[in-house]
Amino acid sequence: TNQKKIVLITGANKGIGFATARELAQDGHTVLLGARDPERGGAAATELAGKGLDARFVRLDVTDPDTIAAAARLISETYGRLDILINNAGITRDRPHPPAELPVAALREVYETNVFGAVAVTNAMLPLLRKSPAPYIGNVSSGLGTVAFLADPEPAMLPYANLLAYNSSKAALNAVTLIYANALRDSGITVNALSPGFCATDLNGHRGQLSAEEGGANIARQVTEDVPSGVFLNENGGTYPW
Ligand code: NDP
Repeated sequence: TNQKKIVLITGANKGIGFATARELAQDGHTVLLGARDPERGGAAATELAGKGLDARFVRLDVTDPDTIAAAARLISETYGRLDILINNAGITRDRPHPPAELPVAALREVYETNVFGAVAVTNAMLPLLRKSPAPYIGNVSSGLGTVAFLADPEPAMLPYANLLAYNSSKAALNAVTLIYANALRDSGITVNALSPGFCATDLNGHRGQLSAEEGGANIARQVTEDVPSGVFLNENGGTYPW
């Protein structure tokens, strides 16, 4: 539908999150740019608002329960509902360690953001999502986190097959996605894992083949098209095997 939606994107001050924000705001939606740093987040929102787009910064560190609660309160008081939540904030800490040499603290840190952060934000936003006529939760994941890929990595992506923290955190996020999709099916809330495609961003030292803009356009399409719940949407308009 062409209805104006209220969208919250975590980690939206740069990279794919920012590109997704611009894309959805250009489509006429109200976009709340979640960011942990007020300066970076404020500047990103100001850039979009300066072009006449309906964009605003919301302080949100996905590892900080106080900021999550404050963001939910702000959205409740200002809009009374949330239509689309995009859990985009993500980190990696694997390089330069081979898996067995990665400090467990680094593994924990990655899970804290990529998995527990997404769960915490989802739980806080669920009451607001339940007030939407067509709620959607999109978890930005990666093909690197599919068991299908890990069991049989494509040769071209072999250098990325042994990222212990990142890949296993996305595998966990995929499982979380399916569990929420099943648990929320009766409430009509769509919950999907999303893949932007391999994009050149700070996350991977700009090694990706797509631009952040192309990745953002992919995510924007995945959260606005008519799709089933409990699938992993890929960048080519299809789905990934889990
Ligand atoms: P970037 O590093 O460019 O952006 C990551 C964003 O997440 C930044 O805005 C960062 O904020 C934010 N962030 C990190 N930690 C937190 C936190 N605790 N709270 C709030 N925000 C946080 O990476 P990408 O744009 O590439 O990645 C976006 C998502 O896309 C990630 O989930 C990534 O795993 C996923 N992805 C990326 C792919 C790619 O090829 N690039 C492929 C598949 C998936 P700050 O500026 O403050 O650090």
